[in-house]
Amino acid sequence: IEFEHCGFPAILSGNLKKAGYEAPTPVQMQMVPVGLSGRDVIASADTGSGKTVAFLLPVILRALEKSVHSVHSPMALILTPTRELAIQIERQTKELVMGIPNMRTALLVGGMPLPPQLHRLKSTIKIVIATPGRLLEILRQKAVQLDKVKVVVVDEVDTMLKMGFQQQVLEILEQVPKEHQTLLASATIPKGIEELAARLVHDPVRIVV
Ligand code: AMP
Repeated sequence: IEFEHCGFPAILSGNLKKAGYEAPTPVQMQMVPVGLSGRDVIASADTGSGKTVAFLLPVILRALEKSVHSVHSPMALILTPTRELAIQIERQTKELVMGIPNMRTALLVGGMPLPPQLHRLKSTIKIVIATPGRLLEILRQKAVQLDKVKVVVVDEVDTMLKMGFQQQVLEILEQVPKEHQTLLASATIPKGIEELAARLVHDPVRIVV
């Protein structure tokens, strides 16, 4: 199967092609239909598997379905443990949403100046890509609200735990409406991850690649 034949909107298919992606990787093949079904997902997928595009595709497709957009209230939240990973995810997101209206992203990460990030939030943002500490700081300032979030991605959950972000992630998720979909990705799923995951997902589909 190739992306061209997946029935995606033409702009998205074109962007996948431009990015040089012809056929979905195994994790993408599994994640896209489950993601579109609205079910929660725990994917054990490592860097190199194509996991980023795997969670971005359902996020983008679901964002396209819901045309509601409101200032300060993004539809999707992608949490990652590090700035570098967040930057990379934002770059890939922009590549995939290029030319699609109302798909602006905001990168909210520590280790970079706060004012430009706050400024960016003055326009309507559909997808927030953030590290936990900086997002909490911005939430406290009420520069962004999570009351319209429909899809949450927590990437590299194992690294999140190792870096001690568990409480911060839970604190952030408290601000997301109960009725949301959660997509978790982790290289490995040891016991500690299962415990955290149990608090983040409901009746998840497991994807192992
Ligand atoms: P990730 O596992 O998300 O870190 O992605 C690893 C690399 O694979 C990245 O450089 C992506 O740009 C690339 N990639 C993702 N999906 C595909 C695909 N379907 N075909 C070819 N390359 C891909």
